[in-house]
Amino acid sequence: MLRLQAFKFELMPDGGQARDMRRFAGSCRFVFNKALAMQQELHAADEKKLGYAGLCKALTEWKADPATAWLCDTPSQALQQTLKDLERAYTKFFSKRADFPRFKKKGRSGDSFRYPQGYKLDQANGRLFLPKLGWMRYRKSRDVLGTVKNVTVSQSGGKWFASIQTEREAEIPVHQGGAVGIDMGIVRFATLSDGAVFEPLSSFKRQEQALAKAQRAMSRKTKFGKNWKKAKAKVQRIHTKIANARRDYLHKTTTTISQNHAMVCIEDLQVRNMSASAAGTVEAPGTNVRAKSGLNKAVLDQGWFEFRRQLDYKTAWSGGHLVAVPPQNTSRTCPCCGHIAKENRQTQARFACVECGFEENADLVGAINVLRAGHARLACGDTSLIGASAQEPAEATIREQALRVAP
Ligand SMILES: [Zn+2]
Repeated sequence: MLRLQAFKFELMPDGGQARDMRRFAGSCRFVFNKALAMQQELHAADEKKLGYAGLCKALTEWKADPATAWLCDTPSQALQQTLKDLERAYTKFFSKRADFPRFKKKGRSGDSFRYPQGYKLDQANGRLFLPKLGWMRYRKSRDVLGTVKNVTVSQSGGKWFASIQTEREAEIPVHQGGAVGIDMGIVRFATLSDGAVFEPLSSFKRQEQALAKAQRAMSRKTKFGKNWKKAKAKVQRIHTKIANARRDYLHKTTTTISQNHAMVCIEDLQVRNMSASAAGTVEAPGTNVRAKSGLNKAVLDQGWFEFRRQLDYKTAWSGGHLVAVPPQNTSRTCPCCGHIAKENRQTQARFACVECGFEENADLVGAINVLRAGHARLACGDTSLIGASAQEPAEATIREQALRVAP
């Protein structure tokens, strides 16, 4: 099995390197936005949009133009990778997997650039060589495994990071665990059919007040002044903290589940649809938007999408697999007698069968039904919903989707 994995480390640049990295990221952002604007103009004029080769040709012209000749200071390959990203964003848009490509903004996922080659990794000395930047030390927290395929440099919360994407052949172990079903919820993040419960990830709620306070403080300062910059840095620090806490929790949870169970069954919830539907569209604004977006916020806060993505590749890595089952009736079927009725679920928390009297926590009942549906799927030989990806796709995809619907 070919295993793709990214290793992320904090970089320790000197002043000159940090300045150069800011410049490179800025140039890439500039190129991305200029190319996107050009594609939009072509579209408005009813002309065909440029392909990657056409974009590269345009880039060459911009570099030759004295007004934008400063682009030459940035590694060409990084600028070209940016154009590839734009191409990919269009492809995703046309296949309806993402919204229309957006202009990159400084600060928000717009501070990064990627090297497809030319880097050198010296693990023994904890340093990384990057073209036009030279050798740079990084905080080595673990060994990088596999062949390096590319390196992405990004800035977040005032720090610089290198994400080293690798590829390696890995043995698939034989998993010794059994099967488990998972019910996802707001009150409890996840309930397992064996009775295990994972508490909700409310890091965002906990930090929300701190964030609101910092944002208010920032709005009172004179824009771009010294104190405003300080307040802004604080807001960014809280954002980073929230993101880190969320990531840690999800990783711990998915690692535990995938190590203990060979077959993991989960409801095939369309999280993206659920989240997108609340706001509605311009033609048909969503009803009850406020209540729904409250739920959506919680859904996103819990990171269900990311949870499922991690379970998918982690079960594959440990020799198990993830089975997605259709969510129909999982919350209203009696696990004891099989009776299906809306009335079985009197409250959000309690399940009580109106036919046989069986009573249990509603989330646990949901998890048991998900497990049964998973077994049934396999018994029918239907493997279409089985996740078998050993890949770890870019987290950016998930983040894009989350940002898109974030309030
Ligand atoms: Zn019953």
